[in-house]
Amino acid sequence: MTGKIHSFQSLGTADGPGVRSVVFLQGCPLRCACCHNPDTWDFNGGENVSADEIFRKIKRFKNYFGKEGGVTVSGGEPLLQPEFIIELFTLCKTDGISTAVDTSGCVLNEKVKEVLKLTDVVLLDYKYVTDELYKENVGCEKAHVDKFLEYLNSQNTDTWIRQVIIKDLNNNADSVKALKELKKKYNCIKKIELLPFRKLCIEKYKNLNIPFPLAETEETSKAEIENLEKFL
Ligand code: SF4
Repeated sequence: MTGKIHSFQSLGTADGPGVRSVVFLQGCPLRCACCHNPDTWDFNGGENVSADEIFRKIKRFKNYFGKEGGVTVSGGEPLLQPEFIIELFTLCKTDGISTAVDTSGCVLNEKVKEVLKLTDVVLLDYKYVTDELYKENVGCEKAHVDKFLEYLNSQNTDTWIRQVIIKDLNNNADSVKALKELKKKYNCIKKIELLPFRKLCIEKYKNLNIPFPLAETEETSKAEIENLEKFL
């Protein structure tokens, strides 16, 4: 079984618990205004790599994972390649490697449910708290993501909610308070991470000749994130 792979990060600490290898899968149906990986969108891009080959790569870094770390599949939208993840995660599980999926939560089907059975932590990119913002800045209905979250809760799957904080869109107390309410409602949510909006991706957009919708928006400061975290 091969997957369409965008890139492989040997070790990182930004995508789930502990130190992790991150596999970025190619292809995404959404068009988030804040996307910092537009080069992962094209389903025809990427490189075909077998699950076995990726697993062997991951295994080389196993000693660095410690108790909490492991592997995260990200993207793009990784859950559009469920068969590949099922094979990769099955190999990881037999070797005692912890698994995480970083997803927009826009796809839920029987194959995705099989992936989730093999997933220790879901990093759910819950991008906004209103449907209006979802429609304008993501290109999908928020209801899909809520359905996904409800399913995670029904399965008691450990979930981290992640939200990029963007000026004039969601950098306000009400939005963060709504995330807090979400955590009260769903026991599966173990953590909420507020992430600063950054524009490091601007060169990628230029190279791809794609307009970056938030080119004029200011980056979010660490102080603003800390201030908003108080409402959690
Ligand atoms: S879901 Fe992720 S990869 Fe897809 S457009 Fe949004 S931020 Fe980019």
